[in-house]
Amino acid sequence: VHFKELKLNEKILGAIEQLGYTEPTEVQERVIPVALQKQDILVKSKTGSGKTAAFAIPLCELVDWEENKPQALVLTPTRELAVQVQEDITNIGRFKRIKGLALYGKSPFAKQKLALKQKTHIVVGTPGRVLDHIEKGTLDVSKIEYLIMDEADEMLNMGFLEQVESIIKLLPSNRTTMLFSATLSDEIKSLSGKYMKKSVSIEI
Ligand code: AMP
Repeated sequence: VHFKELKLNEKILGAIEQLGYTEPTEVQERVIPVALQKQDILVKSKTGSGKTAAFAIPLCELVDWEENKPQALVLTPTRELAVQVQEDITNIGRFKRIKGLALYGKSPFAKQKLALKQKTHIVVGTPGRVLDHIEKGTLDVSKIEYLIMDEADEMLNMGFLEQVESIIKLLPSNRTTMLFSATLSDEIKSLSGKYMKKSVSIEI
């Protein structure tokens, strides 16, 4: 399978080529077509499998460049992962000029508030800071169509369940939700059952 068979825009394909990715990894091959159909997905896959691009590629493909408000929200357990995901989105969305923004704690709120006034397509952040921005009205989630929970098992291990649930309850219900986790514990299954519709399960 080649990326060209995945029905992606030339701008996205060009960026993937520039990154030196010649063929999709297994998780990408299985997740991208389902994500492009806007179906909810529960994915069991590890770091190193290419899982970031598995959601970053369809997100960059699906977001509407013209829309000024954020259309996708990616939740991550750590600031390091938020920054990494934001960088991958910037690389993949380069030729479509997709703007990704990372929001995380222990970093000035005011600076992030200012950045959020600029056009942002995809917000990536840790649960506490994301919830803080939504509650203070600095992050407008009214146009969020895609929610990604990355390393969901880690988010639960770190005690973010309550904040993750508070965030989800503030998002439009008409959205696509994707949950990525290295393990599928009962807690993860319950989280996915609670907030996803007829999800497709993919285990790598
Ligand atoms: P991840 O599992 O998302 O942390 O990705 C692991 C590494 O694989 C990262 O350094 C990516 O840049 C790289 N990668 C992702 N997709 C591909 C691909 N299709 N071909 C080659 N490398 C890739």
